[in-house]
Amino acid sequence: MSRYDLGREELARLLTDEPAYRVDQVFEGLYKRLAEPGDLTELPGELRRRLAQAPEMALAFSSVAESVADRGTTVKWLFETGDARRIETVLMRYRDRVTVCVSSQAGCAMACSFCATGDAGFKRQLSSGEIVEQVVIAARRCRAEGWGELGNVVLMGMGEPMANFKAVWAAVESMNRDLGLGARHLTISTVGVVPGIVSLAAKPLQVNLAVSLHAANDELRDLLVPLNRRYPLEALMQACEHYRATTGRRISFEWALMAGVNDRRCDATELAGLARRLGAHVNLIPLNPTPGGLSRGLKGSDAPAVAAFSNWLGNFGVNVTVRQNRGRSISAACGQLAACGSLAGAPSRAEAGITRATPTAPRTQAIEISVREAAK
Ligand code: SAH
Repeated sequence: MSRYDLGREELARLLTDEPAYRVDQVFEGLYKRLAEPGDLTELPGELRRRLAQAPEMALAFSSVAESVADRGTTVKWLFETGDARRIETVLMRYRDRVTVCVSSQAGCAMACSFCATGDAGFKRQLSSGEIVEQVVIAARRCRAEGWGELGNVVLMGMGEPMANFKAVWAAVESMNRDLGLGARHLTISTVGVVPGIVSLAAKPLQVNLAVSLHAANDELRDLLVPLNRRYPLEALMQACEHYRATTGRRISFEWALMAGVNDRRCDATELAGLARRLGAHVNLIPLNPTPGGLSRGLKGSDAPAVAAFSNWLGNFGVNVTVRQNRGRSISAACGQLAACGSLAGAPSRAEAGITRATPTAPRTQAIEISVREAAK
């Protein structure tokens, strides 16, 4: 349990010997002013000191490193928990909004072949308080920088949110109810955990759902996203249809464009079929380099290929956007979060020669070959 695992009720229990209005004051201080307990000057000094020292009030993370890119508009934090687990959080300022990308697990068990977090493996679940705390720290930074209020949260950092559904949902509710973030400004991204999508459809809060598709046939998707073997495309599409029918909300498909693998005209045709069936929006992003991805022969599509793919989809009548690449120089871009620790001031992987791929193990060679074959 850490500070933001405490809701109003738990705070009330901590403050049983205090007048009832103190609960509101502490709650406001933590969730609205995003203040440290020791800085809540409206409280009597003794209470302030007691709170500042209470173990329940301790923050979950210490910040190990912070890196800044894109002329100060992208900030990545490497956080460490009391049990020495490391996660990363990325804050991005755009012209019209500020978005934070938070982690839902330390590591990830999904093992997608192009994702650095997947290569690092699963460490442990994050608690809802640990998820909320990332948002609070980012929101504080927004205020300190004069960027205005943090507007959007995407659960697209480390981990698979649907594999930690209970904590993720508690965190989403707290962001909405306690931090005041609109449900429509919260996005859960999943690799395709069908039961999670079904559970989400039953929730009253209308958050956004993004599905990381990347392949529109099972043969290729099995190779890129191992979870596809458990929840193949047809099951995934049916879950998406159920979600759409129940909530009336449009889904987005994420598609990381990989040169020669899923960026050809035939891939666009297949994807368009699924997107039209679901009325889904498609978000394209050229694959960001990761050592594991490169060792399996996976490279991002170049700009002309991205433009061509986007045009093909557009011609099929699919609603499509190309996502801006942020934070590549600090390994903060999509799929690059690995919490390896050597961040602050270190050259980015690209600058440090990421093309020197990590030694290729037999298993990864097999994936490389099969990915190539599936792409033929
Ligand atoms: N597990 C969840 C959320 C975390 S990943 C999910 O899979 O959706 C957030 C997004 O980044 C996903 O769409 C994921 O497929 C994408 N991603 C992973 N590795 C990437 C890479 N190397 N380049 C671009 N996007 C990547």
